[in-house]
Amino acid sequence: MTVTRFAPSPNGPLHLGHAWSAIAAHDRARVDGGRALLRLEDIDGGRSRADLAEDFRADLAWLGLSFAEVAAQSTRLASYAAGAARLRQEGLLYPCTCTRAEIAALAPPAGAEGPIYPGTCRGRDIDPALPAAWRLDSAAALARTGPLDWHDERHGPQRTDAGALGGFGDMVLVRKDAPASYHLAVTLDDAADGVEVVTRGMDLFAATHVHRLLQALLGLPVPRWHHHGLLVDDSGRKLAKSRRSPSLADRRAAGEDGRALADAMRAGRFPAGITLANA
Ligand code: GLU
Ligand code: ZN
Repeated sequence: MTVTRFAPSPNGPLHLGHAWSAIAAHDRARVDGGRALLRLEDIDGGRSRADLAEDFRADLAWLGLSFAEVAAQSTRLASYAAGAARLRQEGLLYPCTCTRAEIAALAPPAGAEGPIYPGTCRGRDIDPALPAAWRLDSAAALARTGPLDWHDERHGPQRTDAGALGGFGDMVLVRKDAPASYHLAVTLDDAADGVEVVTRGMDLFAATHVHRLLQALLGLPVPRWHHHGLLVDDSGRKLAKSRRSPSLADRRAAGEDGRALADAMRAGRFPAGITLANA
C-alpha cells in the first residue's frame, strides 16, 4: 500500500512531461494497491496561477489517472516557518542579503541550481531590518549528521556526503520573497503527507541529497525515491520547457483520447518527435 505523489507547480499548463510524471506516481502506487497524492506546489507567489488548478485536475482525469488531492503548499506556511525556526535555533541557518547580481559579480562556479553561493554572508553581522534569505550552512549541517544513505528504486543505493552536496553550496531554505524554498517545503510536505515513494523526474535527482540532509536535521522519516526518465523533444529540451509540445489542456480540447495517450506512453510509444531520456 505505497503512498506516492505528483507535485506540479501551477505556473504554466501541464505538458506531456508532466503526464509522464503523473503516470509514474499513479502506476507506482497501484502496484500494491497504494495511493497517489496530488499536491499543488503554489508558493512561488509571483508565478503561481490559481486558475490552473482546475485544469490540472481535468488533465489528470482525462489521462485516466485518479489522485487524492492533499493541501496545497500555500496553506502550509506555518509548517515551513516552524521547520526554519528549528534549524535557526540549532545555529544552522544564516541570513543572506546578497542579490543575484552581487553573487554573479563574484563569478562563482556553476552548480546544480545556478552559481554556487560563495558563503559571503556566513558569519557576517547582518542588519535584521534588511530583507534577507536564510541559507543552510551545509558543511556544519553535514558535520552534524555525517554521510546519509538513501535508496532509489530505479538507480539503487545512494549516499549524501560533501561531494554530493557540493553543487548546492549553502542553499536557500527561506527565500526573501517566500516563506520557504522548494527544498524546505517539499521535504516537510512529503513527510506530512506520509509519502513513502517520492516519484519525480531525473532533473531533481541531485536535489534529493539536499532533502535527505534536511530529513536528518529535522528528524523526519526517510522515504524511498523513484526518479523517472525525462521526455525530451528532438532538440533535447525537456518537454515542460519546450514550446513545441502542446499542453495537455490543448490536447484535451482538441478531442484527443487521453487514456489512449497514457497507455501508448506506458508502452513506450510517445508522440512524434518525443523521446525518453535518462531512463
Ligand atoms: N513542483 C516541482 C515541479 O513542478 C516538482 C517537485 C517534486 O516533484 O519534488 O517541478
Ligand atoms: Zn549573502
